[in-house]
Amino acid sequence: MLHSLLLAGSLAGLTVVSPPSQGPDWTALEAEALRHFEALVRFDTSDPPGREAPAAEYLKQVLEEAGITVETFELEPGRTNLVARLKGSGRKRPLLVMGHTDVVNVDPKKWTHPPFSATREGGYVYGRGTVDDKDNVVAALMAMLTLKRQNVALDRDVIFLAEAGEEGSTRVGIQFMVKQHFPKIDAEYCLAEGGSVTRVAGKIKYASVQTLEKIPHGIELTARGVAGHGSVPLRSNAVVHLSTAIAKIGVWKPPIRLNDTTRAYFKRLASISSADEAKRYLDVLSAAPGVAAAADDYFLEHEPRHASMLRTSVSPNVIQGGYRINVIPSEAKATLDVRLHPDDDPTAFLEQIKKVVGDPAVEVAWAARDVRPGSGSARLDSEGFKAVESAMTKHYKTVTLPTMSTGATDMAYLRARGIQCYGVGPAIDSEDGPKGFGAHSDQERIIERELQRFVQFHYELVLALARADQGR
Ligand SMILES: [Zn+2]
Repeated sequence: MLHSLLLAGSLAGLTVVSPPSQGPDWTALEAEALRHFEALVRFDTSDPPGREAPAAEYLKQVLEEAGITVETFELEPGRTNLVARLKGSGRKRPLLVMGHTDVVNVDPKKWTHPPFSATREGGYVYGRGTVDDKDNVVAALMAMLTLKRQNVALDRDVIFLAEAGEEGSTRVGIQFMVKQHFPKIDAEYCLAEGGSVTRVAGKIKYASVQTLEKIPHGIELTARGVAGHGSVPLRSNAVVHLSTAIAKIGVWKPPIRLNDTTRAYFKRLASISSADEAKRYLDVLSAAPGVAAAADDYFLEHEPRHASMLRTSVSPNVIQGGYRINVIPSEAKATLDVRLHPDDDPTAFLEQIKKVVGDPAVEVAWAARDVRPGSGSARLDSEGFKAVESAMTKHYKTVTLPTMSTGATDMAYLRARGIQCYGVGPAIDSEDGPKGFGAHSDQERIIERELQRFVQFHYELVLALARADQGR
């Protein structure tokens, strides 16, 4: 945080010591970060309909007051994306720091503290968006303000993107920015949501940094049969054919796939786990017949997220068929949530599902869904990842696990354009999610101290990646 004395070199035998550089005043910055965070949480940016404009306007004012130029972009009125840029020498390609200002919807009746109140209680700040994703927005904002005020010389531009529409309308957000304004956000590296630091019983266990994500697809099953009177059961009953197809898919285990991210993830996770757990995390990497399968079976039962990280996953989530008790319907449909492993080929996967179903009465086809582009993993041997890792070590004193997220983020669009994106986030108690305090829950909250730690971590990470190299 505070820079030590800089030795400016010796001159005619005299050692010239430059005055101590004034590091940021974190006490003041913490108060300011909290103020901006509360202000941002208090904008109801539930998506739909989004209404990100007032939040973007607030950010614009704050940035402009600090002397930072801001541009805004809208595909539709009220769905504002904001871009601000601090210029560097151009010696390196830019760094993009981003967060989305929209949040998922709320059912206000279920909230003890009103969802847009930013109530502070017991060391927490409550409100929709506190951990998804106004934490990242405020961290990126504070990084911009601090770099500017500290007048930090930069080797690369630092670009801030506060985007609209992440929660279900990326058309007006990241898609619009990538398709129509890409030069405004093009960068070598990007920091965004998608990672977190996990605390168990108040103790930090590990940091997850998202380097890759699965690709959401949808498959629709349509069973067709003969309609008839319910008093005369038919072998061609569409409901029966559909249910049989779903049951087959439900027990089918798509093959295990590993890549650099998941290999490193399980290996590093093993290094901080109990002997039993470590064995399974290493077994799953084994090529010996049956070894990985046994660990995989355990994951399917007890650690479903790990099972999903190992393959393309399929979850039948919607089923429709029939309309009255005495009519055999001629059609029944089911929709499967498919999270494609980035190494899988979608066409081949659809063919596999057809084989698993193996029933000519059931049609298997892609369902309409906003499909994010696939991409390779962000590099694990880059300056970017190394900087993330050393910032994690410094601020959280823990191991960094590169993670392939089973869910999707806007980083998919940027990775597909060649940007190395790393998903980061504040420390969260692993107990909080199951208790109903996690992202998208009815009592979303953040640990106030951890928000502050994250803001500082984020600033120093940006500094490490962008500050001009004094030695040149
Ligand atoms: Zn989010």
